[in-house]
Amino acid sequence: MDKCLFCMIANKEIPSNTVYEDDLIYVFHDIDPQAPVHVLMVPKKHISSTETVQEEDAMLVAHMMLKLKELTALLGLENGYRVVMNYGEDGLQTVPHLHMHILGKRKLTWPPG
Ligand code: AMP
Ligand code: ZN
Repeated sequence: MDKCLFCMIANKEIPSNTVYEDDLIYVFHDIDPQAPVHVLMVPKKHISSTETVQEEDAMLVAHMMLKLKELTALLGLENGYRVVMNYGEDGLQTVPHLHMHILGKRKLTWPPG
């Protein structure tokens, strides 16, 4: 999967504005922010979506969830935030590499459009 956009971003083959990284994940600012803070968390391993996560990825997806608290503190989101993972035609996923949107610093509407 060497032509995957988010694999290339996580490998630093395409520049991005880094927020955080470790051995398992890469976090960067979305290029088209929908809120004053809008970052994307991706696994460094290529997984195409929530629909292709395997049992063997359990530690990785747990790591993503467990890192949220630290990242949202780093981003100053004490007042709240929203986590979004899009899939498929109705969910409007546009990049086929698993990613978590983290949005905050404004009052987010519910339900989303
Ligand atoms: P989704 O629609 O859930 O697949 O989200 C893909 C997100 O990736 C969108 O919010 C885009 O703005 C964002 N995006 C696309 N290309 C880049 C890029 N080169 N750097 C940062 N974010 C990107
Ligand atoms: Zn990928």
